[in-house]
Amino acid sequence: MNGGLTISMSQNEINYDSPASIQAFLVQNGLAVSKRLGQNFLIDRSVRSRIVKALEVEEGMHVWEIGPGIGAMTTLLLDEGVRLSAFEIDYGFVRVLEGLFSANENFSIIKGDVLKTLCSQKEPPERIFGNLPYNSAFAIISYILEMEFLPQRMIFTLQKEAAQRMVAGPGTKDYSSLSVFCASVCDVRILFDIGSSAFWPRPRVTSSVVQLIPKKKSMSASERKDFSDFVRAVFSSRRKTLRNTLRFWMKQRSPSLREEEIDTRLRAILEELLIDPSIRAEVLTPDELFAVYRQLHALLASSTSC
Ligand code: SAM
Repeated sequence: MNGGLTISMSQNEINYDSPASIQAFLVQNGLAVSKRLGQNFLIDRSVRSRIVKALEVEEGMHVWEIGPGIGAMTTLLLDEGVRLSAFEIDYGFVRVLEGLFSANENFSIIKGDVLKTLCSQKEPPERIFGNLPYNSAFAIISYILEMEFLPQRMIFTLQKEAAQRMVAGPGTKDYSSLSVFCASVCDVRILFDIGSSAFWPRPRVTSSVVQLIPKKKSMSASERKDFSDFVRAVFSSRRKTLRNTLRFWMKQRSPSLREEEIDTRLRAILEELLIDPSIRAEVLTPDELFAVYRQLHALLASSTSC
């Protein structure tokens, strides 16, 4: 191979570094770029190599690629000797990818919306990466973090603004349910930014490459899912006090609990954790929110088992 620069399918050649070549290839194959599906191809070869390096793959590793497009990253990963499962929603691109890579026994493609096809996968991967479509990046990352098995390393490219929300700290404007959830499950780091000229078509925004490494002592999958729902509920009413937000959440989770009982228990839990009930949830750290969640969860579990 040639470092993923040029690749051929029947008579058609594609140079992944050249917008003109990509455009010609798409036309030859009766395809067009869809804005709705966030199709921006990474045409900067050095950036593609940096992402592959960041993935730290070894030969034989099982890797998932979300949104391979027409294969600019796919070809580099296959050159590394990994077993690659590629998830692509665009059936025109699927046809192209099959034409380019199906002779490689390390390549398999899963057609359709990754948010629907991930759950049917039997073999957990050791790496996941993707230059994600901007408008569904958060949904895809949240979905992955709630999966049964987490890989050792994940690398995603997304809009810089979205990446900053993932790593934001308490009390900042970017701090969100995703910041809390990501920080509770993984060590999250922005590795580097990518200027818009590295893509074709050129997006209006800068992108960032984000690395997620699951924490050694991670929660169980069901706990992750439940905590993710809790954090979303807590951040959905940002103007309410913590007491009111939690009261509402408890009432929804356990409608049979009396109001007075909820208030008494809640006060006791927050007192024990030295948390002021009149603050807003968004000033609490991920660890504090998790501690609150754990106590409330235990309380609800014991009150329903009686
Ligand atoms: N990986 C290619 C690259 O870097 O040049 C293309 C990346 S492009 C930003 C995003 C890709 O994700 C497109 O191929 C698009 O069709 C695909 N995609 C968008 N939504 C998807 C979804 N829900 N499930 C699977 N693939 C999706």
